[in-house]
Amino acid sequence: MAGSPYWNPKTETLPRERLEALQLVKLRRHCEWAAARSPWYRRRFAEEGFEPGQLRSLADLRRVPMLTREDWMASQDVRPPYGEVPTVGGEGAIRVHTTSGTTGRGPLRALDSRKDWAWIAEMWSYAVWGCGVRPTDTAYIAFGYGSFIGFWGLHYAMEKVGVLNVPGGAQPTDARVAQILDFGATVVASTPTYALRMAQEADARGLDLRASAVQRLILSGEPAGSIPQTKALIEEQWGARAFDTAGMTEIGTIMVFECEHQPGGTHIIEDNMIEEVIDPDSLEAVPYGERGERVVTSFGRGTIPLIRYRTGDVVCRVPASRCPCGRGFDIYEGGIQGRVDDMKIVRGTNVYPRAIEAIVREFRDVDEFQTVITHEGIRDEITLRVEMKPEWSVDGWDAFSADLHRRLAHSHEGLNFRIERAEAGELPRFELKAKRTADLREQPTAVVFP
Ligand SMILES: [Zn+2]
Repeated sequence: MAGSPYWNPKTETLPRERLEALQLVKLRRHCEWAAARSPWYRRRFAEEGFEPGQLRSLADLRRVPMLTREDWMASQDVRPPYGEVPTVGGEGAIRVHTTSGTTGRGPLRALDSRKDWAWIAEMWSYAVWGCGVRPTDTAYIAFGYGSFIGFWGLHYAMEKVGVLNVPGGAQPTDARVAQILDFGATVVASTPTYALRMAQEADARGLDLRASAVQRLILSGEPAGSIPQTKALIEEQWGARAFDTAGMTEIGTIMVFECEHQPGGTHIIEDNMIEEVIDPDSLEAVPYGERGERVVTSFGRGTIPLIRYRTGDVVCRVPASRCPCGRGFDIYEGGIQGRVDDMKIVRGTNVYPRAIEAIVREFRDVDEFQTVITHEGIRDEITLRVEMKPEWSVDGWDAFSADLHRRLAHSHEGLNFRIERAEAGELPRFELKAKRTADLREQPTAVVFP
């Protein structure tokens, strides 16, 4: 394996027919496991008249009922604290992690066994190895190591590959940047937003990351790792190559990664998952090259079988042949492109956070930004609040804001964005899951910024 570009040379290069045969065997086995052990699946399968024996080809996947986040939440309410989806209670697991719980209904609680953790690390290893990290590397993981599952799996994958690991832990950004330089880290893992935040901090302290030993960044936690403009900015500020990955608490690990060829998207780990792309309204499959909602079935987590889980993520699937690396794993073009419910409609125009970010990131003097949508009088207003780099000259504001205004209008059917300057340090900074869009139209109270 040492000389191979693949973590798992055998399965990563399987022709599609054999890959699908492997998926079918794993799918049937996993459905049998879920039906035997999980109260939720046993009941849902019975309600829908589905039995695992009906799975004779991958097309039969359509017969399997879908699971939603709401189903999982509701089952936690019925049988607290872990619900009816897991195959064991807390006594059969060694760790519990939670989602960040922004929905107001409390978080999902995800249990894992020791065997699950071995699989979680294995999935991350596809990404670590696939982007060129080797045992001679030193990795710095800029992550809080808390209840959120985040980079926990990456940490174990680094150990599995044999990489020297520096767990960044909970500490201020300047201390993390100092450690990256002190230890001579060659790989850094963080969210895209936090990679930019660390670069700002280094800049403010007169430290040159481009002259550091860092060669690779492994990004996760936000769609921005595959927004070309954001990625280019990160690569430029670090003088290193950036590789996108994406995972979710509901799986416990990643399901996609970007290989060393950086094909403008992420390979799906298809020997361990089945990813479907559907129209969120009709629930029918959409063809290659069309955007739709990800539905995931993952095979490795015995404690929480995730079968046909509706993720709410927007993706566009293209064939594996798009990338010259030789993997048989299909690709999500542009990675995870956003959330099905991300899109805002302002005065009849569709507004996507991703499209705004792509424009703003081309202006290199912007430190941070926020989009605020309000309802004033009889109509909606959209305001882009931008925070400039501290050393930036105020004299340039009129020209800058006019240019940004023009570019945003041009890509949004002429929609009029207000451009406002925020004070240095005024806008929220994020370590995990940046939220730069505030839709205040539902709220009757005055505009309050966090
Ligand atoms: Zn590739």
